[in-house]
Amino acid sequence: MSNGMTRREREVTDINEIIKILDNAKVLHLGLVDGDEPYVVPMNYGYIMENGKLTIYLHGAKRGRKIDVMRENPKVFFEAEYGIQPFEGDIACRYGITYSSIMGKGIATLIEDVEEKKKALSVLMKTQTGKDFEFEDKMVAFVSVIRIDVSDYTAKHRPMPKTSI
Ligand SMILES: Cc1cc2nc3c(=O)[nH]c(=O)nc-3n(C[C@H](O)[C@H](O)[C@H](O)COP(=O)(O)OP(=O)(O)OC[C@H]3O[C@@H](n4cnc5c(N)ncnc54)[C@H](O)[C@@H]3O)c2cc1C
Repeated sequence: MSNGMTRREREVTDINEIIKILDNAKVLHLGLVDGDEPYVVPMNYGYIMENGKLTIYLHGAKRGRKIDVMRENPKVFFEAEYGIQPFEGDIACRYGITYSSIMGKGIATLIEDVEEKKKALSVLMKTQTGKDFEFEDKMVAFVSVIRIDVSDYTAKHRPMPKTSI
């Protein structure tokens, strides 16, 4: 994991807390580099965390801008969050919002192997619904499935201040 976070006291390093974020966020914002322009796409995801190593799975149409961009430049960045709750303060700068979030970077690969695609879609559905699903070959043929091998991630939590109303 990389460091250098401002408000370091809010950094989350407990793996169980990080897993909780990944279980609850449901949507991530995928950052791509389209030539010299940034491009961000919200997407649902599934994940596997094994010994601190995070792998993310995405699915979508077989064509479109994100697929084109990814083929040109597979370097991606992502962010996901949950636990959003605005709070008030006595002055403007004490208003704020609670959150738990994760950000990271990795390399995106379009999965071609049918068995890996099926496994990835099962992981995605498990993360999204908590349920087990199985997929047939013909079902996976119509979608693109992306694996992100995450090389670095950080997580952060902003709690509700004790003094807020
Ligand atoms: C909460 C949420 C969850 C989603 N989950 C998924 C998912 O799991 N898989 C998936 O494939 N898609 C998902 N989408 C849709 C996704 O954000 C994209 O619209 C879609 O993937 C097409 O992306 P693309 O790069 O192929 O765009 P294209 O269809 O090629 O579109 C190109 C242009 O259309 C515009 N555009 C595309 N998407 C959006 C958008 N969401 N909002 C506004 N303008 C847009 C942009 O200007 C973009 O440059 C989700 C959207 C939301 C809001």
